[in-house]
Amino acid sequence: MSSDLQHVLDRAADGGRITPDEALDLYVDAPFHALGRAADAVRRRRFPDNIATYLIDRNINYTNVCVTACKFCAFYRAPGHEEGWVRDLPEILRRCGEAVDLGATQIMLQGGHHPEFGIEWYEETFAAIKAAYPMLALHSLGASEVVHIGRVSGLTHEQVIARLHAAGLDSFAGAGAEILTERPRHAIAPLKETGATWLSVMETAHRLGVESTATFMMGTGETNAERIEHLRMIRDVQDRTGGFRSFIPWTYQPENNHLKGHTQATTMEYLRMIAVARLFFDNIAHLQGSWLTVGKDVGQLTLHLGADDLGSIMLEENVVSAAGARHRSNRLELISLIRSAGRIPAQRDTLYRHLVVHTDPADDPVDANVSSHVSSTALTLTPA
Ligand code: SF4
Repeated sequence: MSSDLQHVLDRAADGGRITPDEALDLYVDAPFHALGRAADAVRRRRFPDNIATYLIDRNINYTNVCVTACKFCAFYRAPGHEEGWVRDLPEILRRCGEAVDLGATQIMLQGGHHPEFGIEWYEETFAAIKAAYPMLALHSLGASEVVHIGRVSGLTHEQVIARLHAAGLDSFAGAGAEILTERPRHAIAPLKETGATWLSVMETAHRLGVESTATFMMGTGETNAERIEHLRMIRDVQDRTGGFRSFIPWTYQPENNHLKGHTQATTMEYLRMIAVARLFFDNIAHLQGSWLTVGKDVGQLTLHLGADDLGSIMLEENVVSAAGARHRSNRLELISLIRSAGRIPAQRDTLYRHLVVHTDPADDPVDANVSSHVSSTALTLTPA
């Protein structure tokens, strides 16, 4: 490693800010073990308790009907398609009740951009969930949904956010970020809002008191420089708002969609991104490893490269699974993965507060049902 690169790595490991160009140099050229050691040093300083967290939540998809037609998406169906469906409110509430029974603390409502769902549909749904299950955090939707609802209902982004918040939305999920850099974003999702608009909506939300996470879907044909540009765009907004709670990179899943000729990010590309993200984001507290898309073993490795969280058990997940993600897990397995990585497992809530710290394996929960799955065919489906 050159002395210049070593100098950058040392500064980053000491908590100093690195520029996008320096991040790119580290991403491309730094020896893997040195990169990981520096990122782990940052993680240790941020979280000296040696805890790594997980979450119990359920993704509930309210419709697969979508007008945005992202090329990478295997989940959506165009309006009028015979396989389109909508979940009605009783079904959504039933799933929330199941999640509560299994110990979930968070619901992530995700759906297609249904052309007939205006702000009232979301207000009624959120208010009903909060009335029935006030203990559940609604960490749901995202900037893309705000843009879509604004179009359908003739409202500004600010108005949409304020009304969703008033109806019960606690925080926005970081979904829809995909890659924010304009060239690759337009190539994979030409009808989606621009990366600048995605960030502008998040900035507005943070200003209105609605925090969020930020994600990154790697591996749809973007260059290394475009990957780092994605990080820069998020960090600039975070400097102004402080509203991104965590950064969550994951890898594009290539099955059953219209994006041809692209391969997934490799394991090394993903792990290097985890480490560089920990070094680059001196202003975002948490970094999540994605076992769902990269697998449990690779997810476990992220805990040695800067990650402090393995995300959710995902009692239900259908979107990424539709594109080929086959990994499933359960509560005991995630606890075991974290512990065997040399860390203390803890269940967290949406705000990253520790709910249960699993210090003694003898006290580990014996709830085999708390595991991830995709929807069963027995679910109530209403044709759209
Ligand atoms: S990723 Fe979301 S917005 Fe894009 S097509 Fe799929 S459901 Fe629609």
